[in-house]
Amino acid sequence: MEDSKDVMWDWSGNNLRVKVLFSSAGLATQILVNNIEKDSNLLIDVGDGILRDLVTLPGKYYENIDIILITHGHFDHVGGLFSLLAFFRMINRSKKLLLISPSNVVELEGLVKTFFESYGDSIPFELELITIEKDFEIDDILISAFPVQHRGSIIGGKKLPDIPSVGYIINKNTERILYTGDTGYFEQLKEYAKDVDYALIEGTYKDKKTKFHLTHSEAEEIGKLAKHYQIIHQIMSR
Ligand SMILES: [Zn+2]
Ligand SMILES: [Zn+2]
Repeated sequence: MEDSKDVMWDWSGNNLRVKVLFSSAGLATQILVNNIEKDSNLLIDVGDGILRDLVTLPGKYYENIDIILITHGHFDHVGGLFSLLAFFRMINRSKKLLLISPSNVVELEGLVKTFFESYGDSIPFELELITIEKDFEIDDILISAFPVQHRGSIIGGKKLPDIPSVGYIINKNTERILYTGDTGYFEQLKEYAKDVDYALIEGTYKDKKTKFHLTHSEAEEIGKLAKHYQIIHQIMSR
């Protein structure tokens, strides 16, 4: 782990460690998860400014992003994806990249289609799109998606795959990290958060504004059920 001192991790476990590169509602959210043993990385959501965030890290972190998880298609979660894919093309990435999302994320489908149409056979890496229905296992990591309450038309806890907005639990050797994605409050969130090693909980508003986001106090209530937590996706006052 000779580079561990180069990155200020928000949380470090025995198997995984996490850095919230940036998170603010309506601007951008991007979270880096490092698989310590393999020294590979997973990125959750790709908002605007992703390249500026990544290049502050040692190159091995962004060169070894093998998996990108997308929670939903709002611009503050996918707006930087085209830049990131084009950057990977520019630096001549050769490793395969997995892009995992719930189904029916039309914004994402459009971005990826444009990338393929623009660069076609000059893309030096394989990009595989995977629609997650519940669990996805890769190497030694288990990724579980759960439906959340977001995007104005859905109710948390309903079954996938018809819901285009999810949270994720990432599990390695019983170590678990939770990210709620964008969501309003629903009871099952507490079950998901209970006893996870590290929870990233959205807490968009100070006071109740909508049933599709959490308040700080709701986020805190859920976060306290985890062993450690951080509230992210707060809205910037303007
Ligand atoms: Zn958002
Ligand atoms: Zn959203």
